[in-house]
Amino acid sequence: MNFYSLNKKAPNVSFKDAVIKGLAPDKGLYFPEQIIPLQKDFFDHIEYFTNNEIAFEVIKQFVADEIPEKELKQIINETLSFDFPIVPIEENISTLELFHGPTMAFKDVGARFMARCLGYFNKEENTEKVTVLVATSGDTGGAVASGFLGVEGVNVVILYPSRKVSDVQEKQLTTLGKNITALEVDGTFDDCQAMVKTAFLDQDLISKLNLTSANSINIARWLPQMFYFFFAYKQLKNKHKELVFSVPSGNFGNICAGIMAQQLGLPIKHFIASTNVNDIVPTYLKTGIYSPKPSKQTISNAMDVGNPSNFVRILEIYKNDDSKLKENLSSYSFTDIETRKAMAKLHEEFNYTADPHGAIGYLGLKKYFSENNNAQGIFLETAHPVKFLDVVEPIINKTIGFPRQILEVIKKEKTSIKIAVYSQLKEFLLN
Ligand SMILES: *Cc1c(COP(=O)(O)O)cnc(C)c1O
Repeated sequence: MNFYSLNKKAPNVSFKDAVIKGLAPDKGLYFPEQIIPLQKDFFDHIEYFTNNEIAFEVIKQFVADEIPEKELKQIINETLSFDFPIVPIEENISTLELFHGPTMAFKDVGARFMARCLGYFNKEENTEKVTVLVATSGDTGGAVASGFLGVEGVNVVILYPSRKVSDVQEKQLTTLGKNITALEVDGTFDDCQAMVKTAFLDQDLISKLNLTSANSINIARWLPQMFYFFFAYKQLKNKHKELVFSVPSGNFGNICAGIMAQQLGLPIKHFIASTNVNDIVPTYLKTGIYSPKPSKQTISNAMDVGNPSNFVRILEIYKNDDSKLKENLSSYSFTDIETRKAMAKLHEEFNYTADPHGAIGYLGLKKYFSENNNAQGIFLETAHPVKFLDVVEPIINKTIGFPRQILEVIKKEKTSIKIAVYSQLKEFLLN
């Protein structure tokens, strides 16, 4: 299968080229030429498949023969080496915990899958070294750092906004060493993002370096997120209820992968994109006007995105038919005050400690169920609460024990290089 650019001014490319390039030469996002639904038999018997087998069935048409079956299965085994449990919260509401990976963020799956695909392509051809350049508002950096650590032929450079990520997040991206470098930017996430964009447009730089991105625009980070929705279906199928997913959304990669899973035939009734006050998509669904804004800082910082890059992929799935889109997707935004209240309620009434992102997912479901009902709701828990200690602990009024993954990283020494302007980034990359 090939991938085309959503800007439609670049040639179609293979999975391999789309992964290596990240973005098409016309700056469009890549999108698969076809989405072939899986057989009914697969859904009827999904409970007899392991997670690894499900993942293989789901992803294989997109990877096609670019990676041989045996290697692809190996990549999937390494990517999915942890659990994805459904935890019941209240009548008709469960959470799907996606934070049991090495950095305790759902981005682990996409980052690990992409790292291993790039590693495979490099090994095959002895191609020149690839530099992965990525801006992070928090969780991407840690997941990418951990996912790519030690992958041969790949250098990773992570830009993060100084003092605007949590302590745990900072440790996760500044303590690994080896092929991972953290650049600490005196500025906001938007400044980091702008520098990365400038680098990708810098002809001088890209003629000298093999640059790629590990943001969710990369198909190898985006597509594996489809797995989560299948894993949830497998666990909830015996309830014989229609499923509604609420996805805490920032760049809209995860929810777009959910909609892709539905396109593959997964029976999902409805999606809710739950956001913080960065409400570009909720506003669009209400008014029809898509108007990107500078991002606002919130307690759910991994979703502080003022121009969600994957939303164009969702529009593409619906062929820009807004009425069809609205039948399948609702979107609500919530303030920090509402988020804190939801975290307190989840803790007091249901003895569940949510992180701010998951709490927003919960709020989205509650809002949807206040107008519709009779379905099984699932909100995605996208990060472990320990990653947002400063926010979570005062609300639940107790301390959260550090899981093993965090204990290992928190005692390590931070190493970062401070930069403030683009020329410093370029100088670093060229040396
Ligand atoms: C990245 C992230 C999100 C948002 O996911 P998108 O795919 O960008 O919409 C939500 N929660 C957490 C914890 C994240 O790290």
